[in-house]
Amino acid sequence: MNLHEYQARSILRAAGVPMPDGDVASTPDEVEVIAARLGGKVVVKAQVHAGGRGKAGGVKLAATPKEARELAGKILGMTIKGLTVEKVLVVPTADIASESYVGLIMDRESQRPVFMVSAAGGVDIEEVAATAPEKILRLPVDPRYGLFPHQAMGLALFLYRDFAQARAAAGIMRQLYSVFIANGASLAEINPLVTTPAGAVLALDAKISIDDNELDRRPDLALLRDESAEDPSEVMARKAGLTFIKLDGNVGCVVNGAGLAMATMDLVKYYGGEPANFLDIGGSSNPEKVVNALRIITADPNVKAILFNIFGGITRTDDVANGIVAATSQFKVNLPIVIRLTGTNQEKAFEILNGVGMRALSDMDEAVKQAVALAKEAA
Ligand code: GDP
Ligand code: MN
Repeated sequence: MNLHEYQARSILRAAGVPMPDGDVASTPDEVEVIAARLGGKVVVKAQVHAGGRGKAGGVKLAATPKEARELAGKILGMTIKGLTVEKVLVVPTADIASESYVGLIMDRESQRPVFMVSAAGGVDIEEVAATAPEKILRLPVDPRYGLFPHQAMGLALFLYRDFAQARAAAGIMRQLYSVFIANGASLAEINPLVTTPAGAVLALDAKISIDDNELDRRPDLALLRDESAEDPSEVMARKAGLTFIKLDGNVGCVVNGAGLAMATMDLVKYYGGEPANFLDIGGSSNPEKVVNALRIITADPNVKAILFNIFGGITRTDDVANGIVAATSQFKVNLPIVIRLTGTNQEKAFEILNGVGMRALSDMDEAVKQAVALAKEAA
């Protein structure tokens, strides 16, 4: 789950990270009032789950409250990377002498939180990583001990020669690390971390992503979710207890188990198709899940064929078959469906489907080939 900048910054500020005071607004009127309260010179920032807002015109500096109001009128309602701006953050303008990048990610390879810092901040860090990787210092942190003060100082000295600034930055790294751990984050990032002409070190932008698995333990964090900023099909899937990721292809996939879902997507690509989604209906076989899965997939106008790939272990294939029958009787599915079922109660499942004139296969390759061909025909 991604937090908005205004949410991330309130967590960081509570942990002591120096950031200018600010407030969030959803109308130009509110922006003018906030700007006046903050002294007039402010930055108006689009609150959407996308990086590169600055480049897209979603971060603007205003000299007066009236100008802030006008800029807010332009930013509110604009779309950045397909996302509509519903809210803006208003913060007092900081003078900038330098911009650095400080990020912390959960790294699967080292199985640790890894710090990444660079004096080439402000801009897209992926670009720095691709063109000048030597400008990024990486440091895996052993979670048993946390970030030692000398490690924090080592990272900070990679950014600043000035000792007072390095000490300030080291403090910020330790605060960032504690926020990362305390909130079950998968990413916590400050870009830019700036120095001012007066020598202060300040965080001007913040991004935090929370591991979804943390949310059961932390209902307070779950409340920060902004569903209006998320893909509607993913919101629907989460509510139905399905693991779903929308993709760009045209073969809708309904699979049980994450591993088989990945293998199915691989096979779709192997036979020249493109999966429209990752969907894991889970191990339990509740027909209702199948109905919801079909609702979500058929709502995607890109989908041209639907592929079921069910390996019945704990999942009973007859339950899945009942789900397919229930779904197709509850609403009209105007798409070809290819069904591959094998395992627990397979004969029963085939009977149920035959009873409504549907056919199922038990060979995975054959089913994927058919689904890819049908999607191509319809495209
Ligand atoms: P992003 O583009 O989505 O990462 O948004 P940021 O909040 O990082 O802003 C982009 C850029 O706008 C920063 O790298 C700065 O160069 C500039 N910017 C943001 N806030 C301020 C500010 O208070 N003062 C000045 N002078 N520039 C700012
Ligand atoms: Mn930024």
